Amino acid sequence: MNSLLLAGGRVIDPANGFDSVADVLIVDGKISAIGSGTAANVPPECERMDVSGLVVCPGLIDLHVHLREPGQAAKETIATGTLAAARGGFTSIVCMPNTSPAIDNSGTVALIHERARKEALVNVFVAGAITKNIAGEELAPIGSLKRAGVVAITDDGHCVQNNDLMRRALEYARMFDLPVMDHCQDYSLVTDGVVNEGYWSMALGLRGWPPAGEEMIVARNILLAETTGARIHCQHLSTAGSVELLRQAKKRGIPISGEACPHHFTLTDAAIAGSEKFWNQDGPGIFGFDSKRQAPPAWPSYDTNFKMNPPLRSSRDREAVLEGISDGTIEILCSDHAPHCDYEKEVEFDHAPFGITGLETELALCLMQLYHTKRLGLSEIIARFTSGPARLLGLRKGTLLPGADADVTVFDPDRAWVFDKGASGSKSVNSPFYGWTLRGKAVAAIVGGQKVWTE
Ligand SMILES: [Zn+2]
Repeated sequence: MNSLLLAGGRVIDPANGFDSVADVLIVDGKISAIGSGTAANVPPECERMDVSGLVVCPGLIDLHVHLREPGQAAKETIATGTLAAARGGFTSIVCMPNTSPAIDNSGTVALIHERARKEALVNVFVAGAITKNIAGEELAPIGSLKRAGVVAITDDGHCVQNNDLMRRALEYARMFDLPVMDHCQDYSLVTDGVVNEGYWSMALGLRGWPPAGEEMIVARNILLAETTGARIHCQHLSTAGSVELLRQAKKRGIPISGEACPHHFTLTDAAIAGSEKFWNQDGPGIFGFDSKRQAPPAWPSYDTNFKMNPPLRSSRDREAVLEGISDGTIEILCSDHAPHCDYEKEVEFDHAPFGITGLETELALCLMQLYHTKRLGLSEIIARFTSGPARLLGLRKGTLLPGADADVTVFDPDRAWVFDKGASGSKSVNSPFYGWTLRGKAVAAIVGGQKVWTE
């Protein structure tokens, strides 16, 4: 018998409304018991881990991760991506299908499952493509993807532009009870935009990516969710308009949901003009960097680690996303972890690929922007990383109920630490947050009762 006792932590399990100092006993990969008297009944050979002063919660789930395998192993692999996940406190991730080849058939799904079984440190769930080769022209075999075990379909990185094709995809998805996750981008409005359309795109001479380019597709998705009854999940929402559309649609009972990523509710487009402009204009108010006491992080203008899709928006959008998370409009938090090689990012801003790594910084950034600023309590934040994504995807995860898989995250919500390039699990280093002093850190990731990573 394999057993582990997590002793004396603050156990927070939003799915069961539990928040109390307690022990968690894990036996043979399952949660066996939770409570104050648990320690007295443990098997004699049980391993004991003192977690007093720390938070113990259901293993965190990130439903938006690019693992880059197969085909782009120079950026990331299943082994390195899942190490980064474990270091960030995540015990389950969902990998996106825009690999080479794309995950648009059952054979590639089986390949990922097989590699993940051998090499992954955490649970890897697979999202299949909506269309063949993510080309937006012809539907992927959605039924056979479902049989192969995908938990959702998405053309993430791309967006199905043909509304009729999207409608058919949704009808199939509904038939197979799969949520459709959508990267909301109207190509005719966005064209070749690289940053938020506004003052800074003008000042910096970079092509604008207008908020309406996202909102147009969010609105389309609301109408199609209403038409088909299929569940649509809007990925990485970045604009005030998107949040409001979602809020109103949810009030009307439409089966639609949304997610937000920490970079969109921490940074703004002023960051592309360099750190000085950012800290002067949009820095005040974000997690208490007091420039009088401590020099804030510095970076140059046109730093491509601030280029992502959708782009960083205005401070008004940032505030609206934070409000959307706080009032429950946005029920899921995730990273959109998107590793790229140095040589790909070390080019002119226009030519660099979109995306940043995020698995190791997202918990801290969420705690800093939501918990330490008193917008949300710990339980509400944890819910957005556990029961929220588990419910959307129908995963039997995100709970510490006795009998559940023993996927557990242990973290310190207050610990200050510096994100260091040399200490990252990811194969890529395209993060804007290196050198930042962050607050809140994972201490252990336990998957199926095994400590896959501890500090
Ligand atoms: Zn995307």
